Amino acid sequence: MPDGQGELPQSFHRLERNQIAVDCGSMAPTPSSEPVARFKARRPPPQRSAPLLEPAPASDLVAKARLVHDRLCAVYGCPIGYFHDLDPLSELVSSLLSHRTRNADSGRAFKALRTRFPDWAEMIDAPTAEVEALIHGVRWPELKAPRLQEILAAVRTRRGALDLDFLADLSVEEARAWLEELPGVGPKTSAAVLSFSVLRMPALPVDSHHHRVAQRLGLIGPKLDVGPSHPVLRGQLPEDWSAQDLYDNHEVLMLHGQKVCHHRRPACDRCTLADICPSAFHVA
Ligand code: SF4
Repeated sequence: MPDGQGELPQSFHRLERNQIAVDCGSMAPTPSSEPVARFKARRPPPQRSAPLLEPAPASDLVAKARLVHDRLCAVYGCPIGYFHDLDPLSELVSSLLSHRTRNADSGRAFKALRTRFPDWAEMIDAPTAEVEALIHGVRWPELKAPRLQEILAAVRTRRGALDLDFLADLSVEEARAWLEELPGVGPKTSAAVLSFSVLRMPALPVDSHHHRVAQRLGLIGPKLDVGPSHPVLRGQLPEDWSAQDLYDNHEVLMLHGQKVCHHRRPACDRCTLADICPSAFHVA
């Protein structure tokens, strides 16, 4: 499955993990010092649906991306705590399991695999049907089971061991490129492994919530898929941002998509970004 569209498991539904209580109705008003004017949303009469706007020029987008980050961080409380402390190989397994799957279900599947295979090497040669049964609660277990075995085998073949700790010695670009040569691993998973695992490297994952909010805000174009949106959205953020900064950026955009900017009927009336969002009150 190709990354972004059909990339195998990626977990981005972590409401219960973050446990962030957000009173959207009491969000702080926009500070008067913010450079809001140039992003002001026009307010034509509400309609059931409207096309998303093409992105503004890059310099504006850089400023807007920063403004979005700062406002959402004020709402959701940065820095946001990491939800995993897994080694990178285990994070890779976890990420693959969680694609299009509820956290609770992917978490159960990961625990079942870890219990049955304390050493991931044992899973490579296990009957695929057994792996599939252990992860039956996730979406597409019949695809994920053989893919997990294939990926683990590929790591062992390429490295001579089942260990991804060496990625810490590579640049983010090199590490992502290495990971994306594994079968079914694309930008979302490679960034998640580097960011969410104990490697804590400065990579920006983009999940479906993050992607949807960025599109509605006009940070990316309406036709840019999740996969190719990774370098675009990363490029709008300061080059020297830390792993925590980029993690926060992903988390707050994801949380906003889960809590306010829903797939259907986004709650624009209680959105802290409404005055700079070209899609405000336009999405049915
Ligand atoms: S909730 Fe509405 S105003 Fe806020 S980002 Fe989404 S579409 Fe824009």
